[in-house]
Amino acid sequence: MSSKPVLDCMVIGAGPAGLAAGIYLRRFHREVRVFDGGASRARRIPLTRNYPGFPEGISGADLLSRLQQQLARQGGGVTMQQVAALRRGDDGTFVAQTSGPDVAARTVLLATGVVDVEPAIPGVEPLRLRGLLRYCPICDGYDHSGQRVAVVGRGRHGVREALFIRHFSQHVALINADADDLPDETERQALQAHQVEVLTGPAQSVEQQEDGSILLTPAAGEPRRFDVLYAALGTRVRSELAATLGAAQDEGGCLVVDAHLRTSVDGLYAAGDVVSSLSQLTVATGQAAIAATAIHNALAPLRPA
Ligand SMILES: Cc1cc2nc3c(=O)[nH]c(=O)nc-3n(C[C@H](O)[C@H](O)[C@H](O)COP(=O)(O)OP(=O)(O)OC[C@H]3O[C@@H](n4cnc5c(N)ncnc54)[C@H](O)[C@@H]3O)c2cc1C
Repeated sequence: MSSKPVLDCMVIGAGPAGLAAGIYLRRFHREVRVFDGGASRARRIPLTRNYPGFPEGISGADLLSRLQQQLARQGGGVTMQQVAALRRGDDGTFVAQTSGPDVAARTVLLATGVVDVEPAIPGVEPLRLRGLLRYCPICDGYDHSGQRVAVVGRGRHGVREALFIRHFSQHVALINADADDLPDETERQALQAHQVEVLTGPAQSVEQQEDGSILLTPAAGEPRRFDVLYAALGTRVRSELAATLGAAQDEGGCLVVDAHLRTSVDGLYAAGDVVSSLSQLTVATGQAAIAATAIHNALAPLRPA
């Protein structure tokens, strides 16, 4: 049984996208609840220096905390429950199955994000904890300008990422994560033309040295020293809930949306990393603002008492 009353909007995911959407919808006097599984990518940001308005930078955890406070000031809140399933009720409303009672809503905004694929190299975890394993050169490539960078890559994504990082440093090496995934001839030529070295993977181990550098042992050849390691292994998109409703996805699993952040399913909206777009905080919050306004306009007008 679904609980009543029916929400104007159920937001799934309390990362920057879901929280920003919640703030907007509350400020439109809408009945909205934000549900969250507690695994925001933003929480993994030690210090972002490209989010506008914070000249000294801000950690992802601090940013999330501020967004939660802002939502609370507008009378909203986050329910820490994973949404296990989403279906359409007989009356056309959405019904979400959570660990609590079912929740019914007239519209749903999916802000469920993505999960980074981690490199499986012996010794990599201590590097991650010390901030020496990076995932997003758009976010922090600048901070490693001129350093020795190793990119652990998979497929075309790895090649693209290594070439992108080459903009920041002349010392870039690409190492394949999978034994059978070497760059093809065209990719090799492109890498060579930009002086990106190609090492033979998979890496056997990585270890931080006393001088702070990383010693990486490839599958063939001598161990090499680097200053930072980038993972370019792609992401797993958390789009299952939308997929069960038949929402269109791109080849990478991201949700396809229109200019108002509407998916191909009527009443189902999406914002943030789960959408086929640039995975950035500013994009997530910007999309949330557009989606929330579109949701408000699509719902029946409120009449002040
Ligand atoms: C190490 C790192 C550094 C980064 N640095 C920067 C940076 O400097 N600048 C920048 O702009 N971007 C940066 N990013 C990217 C940024 O973190 C993401 O673009 C941003 O977090 C996307 O926000 P989101 O709300 O779409 O998703 P997320 O922040 O990932 O939030 C999604 C939320 O949805 C919840 N969820 C998922 N499924 C369900 C479900 N079924 N039920 C309930 N809840 C669910 C999850 O638990 C999670 O809390 C970085 C990313 C990483 C990994």
